[in-house]
Amino acid sequence: MQRMPTILLVEDEHAIADTVLYALRADGYATEHIVLGGEALPRLRRGGIDLVILDVGLPDCSGFDVCRALRAESALPVIFLTARDAELDRVLGLELGGDDYMAKPFSPRELVARVRARLRRHDSSEVQRRGRFEVDAAAHRIRYGGHWLDMTRYEHALLHELLRRPGAILSRAQLLDRAWQDAMESSERTVDTHVKTLRAKLRALDPARDPIRTHRGLGYSIDVD
Ligand code: CA
Repeated sequence: MQRMPTILLVEDEHAIADTVLYALRADGYATEHIVLGGEALPRLRRGGIDLVILDVGLPDCSGFDVCRALRAESALPVIFLTARDAELDRVLGLELGGDDYMAKPFSPRELVARVRARLRRHDSSEVQRRGRFEVDAAAHRIRYGGHWLDMTRYEHALLHELLRRPGAILSRAQLLDRAWQDAMESSERTVDTHVKTLRAKLRALDPARDPIRTHRGLGYSIDVD
């Protein structure tokens, strides 16, 4: 079953929020709404958001600050809403990694059309979702629960191999063969060492989970849910 994309709206003007949320829902999107910029990142880190509509003038900080912090860890599509139709805002917004921009007052239908276009473009990129993981094969990076993982080359290769078939057990020899193809020196203990450091990185992001499973005498698999 296809999940409908979920749009997070960060907007403090309730009249605007209401019309935007209404238009998005009428088009079949799931929506969430928050008022403070400071709430945006904690919410995004919990995952499940496909696109952010971000007001620039928020009560506690600017939408640009929120976008800058978001971009440090995520490539999620962002559409800015701004009250000032200045070119400066536009440039600032796009330089900060916002994907699009709408000046108030705007037509909610136009905004929804842009949301649709952005999501389509994002889907056609190389990012593949595997439960809590998102694999950006082209950029050699993997996101876990909304965070980009900071991994060494072989940690990345190892995780990437495990994520090709979630749940399937790969032996140490298979992992060595696939992830350490070009390594000068490696042994099955190399795999264990990298699994250990990778586990620590995953646990640092989500202490409640331990997605890499050890199968005694067989090898490793990964749970993505
Ligand atoms: Ca505002």
